[in-house]
Amino acid sequence: MARRPFPLLENVTILDAGSEGKAVARVNELVVFVPFAVPGDVVDIQVVAKKKSFYEGKIIRFHQKSERRIDAFCHHFGTCGGCKWQIMPYEDQLKFKQKQVEDAFTRIGKFKFPPISPILGSVRTTYYRNKLEYTFSNRRWLSQDDMQLPIEERNTNALGFHIPQLFDRVLDIDHCYLQPEPSNEIRLSIKKYALEKGLEFFDARTHEGYLRNLLIRNTTIGHLMVILVVNCNEPETLDGIMNHISSSFPAITSLMYVVNEKKNDVITDQVVHLWKGDPFIVEEMPAAIKGETNLNFKIGPISFYQTNPLQAYYLYRTAFEYARLKGNEIVYDLYCGTGTISNFVVAHAAKVVGVEYVESAIDDAHENSVLNGISNTVFYAGDLAKVLNADFVSANGRPDVIITDPPRSGMHEKVIEQMLEISPERIVYVSCNPATQARDIALLDSKYEVLATQPVDMFPHTHHVENVCLLSLRKSSDNIA
Ligand code: SAH
Repeated sequence: MARRPFPLLENVTILDAGSEGKAVARVNELVVFVPFAVPGDVVDIQVVAKKKSFYEGKIIRFHQKSERRIDAFCHHFGTCGGCKWQIMPYEDQLKFKQKQVEDAFTRIGKFKFPPISPILGSVRTTYYRNKLEYTFSNRRWLSQDDMQLPIEERNTNALGFHIPQLFDRVLDIDHCYLQPEPSNEIRLSIKKYALEKGLEFFDARTHEGYLRNLLIRNTTIGHLMVILVVNCNEPETLDGIMNHISSSFPAITSLMYVVNEKKNDVITDQVVHLWKGDPFIVEEMPAAIKGETNLNFKIGPISFYQTNPLQAYYLYRTAFEYARLKGNEIVYDLYCGTGTISNFVVAHAAKVVGVEYVESAIDDAHENSVLNGISNTVFYAGDLAKVLNADFVSANGRPDVIITDPPRSGMHEKVIEQMLEISPERIVYVSCNPATQARDIALLDSKYEVLATQPVDMFPHTHHVENVCLLSLRKSSDNIA
């Protein structure tokens, strides 16, 4: 029996900017997710996939364009997977992020909460990232115009970003608005050199081709790290390209390379070789309180650091203010990564205990305490679901405040159970996913009330939102368990 074609939905009004970067419409009680649509657009939607409780669709005709709609500033918009909200003014993006948090707390959390503070917009809305990873590929994504050219005239090499959901296709980028210069200049110069010298770009299907990835990291104080990832040991070729990068860009403070012979692109398990300069870059962040000494953070080639560094300060400031430290508190920093929050708040606490399961991050955390002359932090590597227990608390002291910053999936139930057991006065919950944050806060609701919530925008032109929430231990008479 022939499969029934997916329906065409006509004259549909787009209602919301959804939480996964797609806009939302509702047709006969069914939710339809549509990319590149703006609330207020009236469109015909071709359904392309049917799931149990929703459709996925694409716009095939506009009846009316939303008054909110603006032109995308980047000409890669629509093909590139990044910056999907460029077609909405920044103020509107912020409104929808704020709404995302409200909706998650209301619909998923169902707990009581006071008014959410207005979202803190990003200091910079373009060139705000400090890290980008580009991919070399001999399977360039071809536009309609490229397709008109005879096959032998098509340049199939690309240095840019993967096309969403297509592991082997790469969009060649000529300008990206995410990272400050010389990020674009470096990428373009390396591509030009590689094409002139006839170097081979990687083929993700056959795993052949010399050039694989290019990582560029920068800091707000002008440090610049470039890591070239190649497929095999070819000393002369490597010499040529590394010397080209080094002489063309004297601003690079840390030039590195990796020989990755594996099938996947992950380099965290590979040796990173230093070609020239320092084996790390340094970022500087103002202290939690004006007038105190700035903090410095060493960032190695595979260390994590918040990707919007100017905004990271406001995120940490909020966490610090919510912690309401007087100086004598024991603070736990759960999911501490490289200990940035621990080191940021510790001047105002008796001690901070950080936990994180990536061992190298714990090494970085410790090193950054030493770098800043801090001696009242301790860091442990381990899975929080296993590490956080009564023994841990008796060894480290009962915390007055717990700051937690879990990954998108939120906290493990066991971690939440332990928090309820430990019952610190305050919990400061930093989250990059309001949906899992709402779920977790609902589990804490028996003992904790929400006192304040502050969304922070770290990723302009995307649907992502960070959210900081202050939870306070209910007085025993208030416990609703
Ligand atoms: N607070 C940090 C970043 C936190 S990102 C900062 O601002 O820089 C979340 C961190 O949780 C990651 O570093 C990840 O490695 C860690 N993580 C994820 N699951 C974990 C678990 N089960 N136990 C401990 N750490 C975990």
